[in-house]
Formats: sequence, C-alpha cells, structure tokens
Amino acid sequence: MNSEEGCVRGKCLECGADLPNGRSDMKFCCTSCRNRYNYRKGNRDKGVKLRTINAINRNYEILESLLEDGASTIDNPDLSAMGYNFDCITSYHKVRNHNEYRCYDIKYYKSESRIFGLSRVEGRTVRKKR
Ligand SMILES: [Zn+2]
Repeated sequence: MNSEEGCVRGKCLECGADLPNGRSDMKFCCTSCRNRYNYRKGNRDKGVKLRTINAINRNYEILESLLEDGASTIDNPDLSAMGYNFDCITSYHKVRNHNEYRCYDIKYYKSESRIFGLSRVEGRTVRKKR
C-alpha cells in the first residue's frame, strides 16, 4: 500500500482511506478492499433480484389459488390483503380498452377497483396441481 500524503484524489470506496494521487480511475486503496466492495455489491444486487422474484412467485401462488377456487374476479383491496404485489408481474399489454397483466401463464385485466377475467393463458401447458 502507498502511504504517500499530499494531493489526494479521493477516498477508498470500501474503507474510506485516502487514495494516493495517481491514476484517476482508482477507487480502492488495495485489492482486498476492491474484492470486499464488489462482494457486497454482488450480494446487494442479488438481494434486489431475489425480492422481486419472490414477490412474483408469491403473486403467482395467490392467482393460482384464486383460479383453483374458481374465482375470476377479486377486489383490489382483497387481493392486496392476501399479500399480492401489483408491481410485480411478468408482462403488461394494452388490449383494446383493457389493461392486461400477466404473471407467467395467468392473465387478468385490472380496473381501478378490481381485477377480472382471471384465466390461464391459452396454448400453454397447465401445471399439475400440487
Ligand atoms: Zn481501502
């Protein structure tokens, strides 16, 4: 490690130590700081993705249970109360004057107050019931 003092360009992103004057692209004081930083960043990115994937999977389970109960419509507050996250879907299309949302192979339309037209997307293999 360089202990040079004086003109300092920045601080190490990991430990906050002053970086020696030199290469302007330097962000870390040493390799182990860079490795630690990247490791934590990797975990953070993974956490964001996992949270979204978990929310989508949870949504799918909720929609599936509604289908199994023969429901094709449900009020938005009731769906929220079940833990449904309206932001986590796999696709969205504008179909004529409806907003069609999909969570994997289940689709529904959504209005201000409720979702309706809940059904499996046709032409896909229906998953076996657990
Ligand atoms: Zn450092």
